[in-house]
Amino acid sequence: MILLAVFTESKYLRLFAGAGRTINMILFRRTMVFANSKITFRDKTTFNTRPISEDVRHKLRTQKMAGETRQSRGPEQFRLFSLFGFEVKLDLSWLLLALLISWSLGAGVFPEEYPDLPKRVYAWMGVASAIGVFVSIVFHEFSHSIVARQFGLPISGITLFIFGGVAEMEKEPPNPKSEFLMAAAGPLASFLLAFVLFQIESLAVAQNWPISFVGVLDKLAYINIVVAIFNLLPAFPLDGGRMLRAALWQSKKDMRAATRISSRIGASFGVALMLLGGISFVQGNFIGGMWWVLIGIFLRSTALASYRQILLQDVVKDKPVRDFMQKDPVTVAPSITVQDWVDDYVYQHHFKMFPVVEGSTLLGSVSIDAIKRIPRSDWPGKTIGEVVDPPSDTNTVSADLETMKLLSTMVRPHMPSRFMVVDNGQLAGMISLKDLQELIALKLEIEPPGR
Ligand SMILES: [Zn+2]
Repeated sequence: MILLAVFTESKYLRLFAGAGRTINMILFRRTMVFANSKITFRDKTTFNTRPISEDVRHKLRTQKMAGETRQSRGPEQFRLFSLFGFEVKLDLSWLLLALLISWSLGAGVFPEEYPDLPKRVYAWMGVASAIGVFVSIVFHEFSHSIVARQFGLPISGITLFIFGGVAEMEKEPPNPKSEFLMAAAGPLASFLLAFVLFQIESLAVAQNWPISFVGVLDKLAYINIVVAIFNLLPAFPLDGGRMLRAALWQSKKDMRAATRISSRIGASFGVALMLLGGISFVQGNFIGGMWWVLIGIFLRSTALASYRQILLQDVVKDKPVRDFMQKDPVTVAPSITVQDWVDDYVYQHHFKMFPVVEGSTLLGSVSIDAIKRIPRSDWPGKTIGEVVDPPSDTNTVSADLETMKLLSTMVRPHMPSRFMVVDNGQLAGMISLKDLQELIALKLEIEPPGR
């Protein structure tokens, strides 16, 4: 977990690092504000716990690769390489950060600190630094991931995005000790990297290597130190904030209270960063100031979301999907045409997916993603029976499934957010992320969990 904040106002480019729990948070794909409630679900992200099953994920991944995914594609992310079993992915937004680093170093900092070099050398120094920062972030996240693996916590991958990077944890650490060590590993790795870079730098100076090379090494070492220090701020979910939560958790023996306190501190830090950014902006540092504001917003929303997630877990804890499903769902007969289905069902009920039922037999589901591939002119001639998807892990869940398990699946990118609920082989109801979130918000309002 690393956040990089960029300052461009002075002779230094300052990069700060910290922690963000999940990349999705900033992408605001799905913002839900519940009326009469302070609960805001930003995105499908706040649930970061157990996946429903590795099979489903594998199936969806395979579908995605084959280009037949039923889900709309999320933000543009692509897989770069795999490192000791951890997949390193790049979100396209990272390129903006890389550009900012190359530009502010290559056009501002390096020409000032190392004058009289040819222009193209500065450009190369800028690009090399951006690549160096990339390696530094991967190294930082990798350290978190390795420690996580030691504690048996699965990490689905390392993703680099506009504010830095994130190791995507699939569940929360089981105890304070594992959380503390996992969080500490990142800053420690950054300090270590800075130390190594300084060693190479002094070697380079002693050996009279080109000044451009020395300059890049020096800057990268400096960046890694600032990264480590900023990371250690006690602002959950930055690494330091996670260490604080672990300490509180250990002393209070209450994970929820620990999360509440540390996430409030984290949110306050977020507000402070926003204010600082605003002041900086007013003083004429437009890019740096704006960047700080964005980092502040990100920090604040991830901190608040982390606490909300804990509350949510309380509400749905150990309860089966049956308790939250919508009963008596609207079903579609296989004999009607696709055109009639679109007109009479989709446009009337505003759902993207319907169960297809004949008599009392569940044939499967029909979704708008499936019919998008059919030319419009064929809609009146094709029946729903011809396009039905049979019941499978990707459209059906058991009524006995633990709700938390389903939630943690639905909130993932590329995952279906609406499922048919089956009880004893019969369609018992429907459950969707939206309904679930609304119901949970209601429950939280009517029966707030004890403080
Ligand atoms: Zn970190």
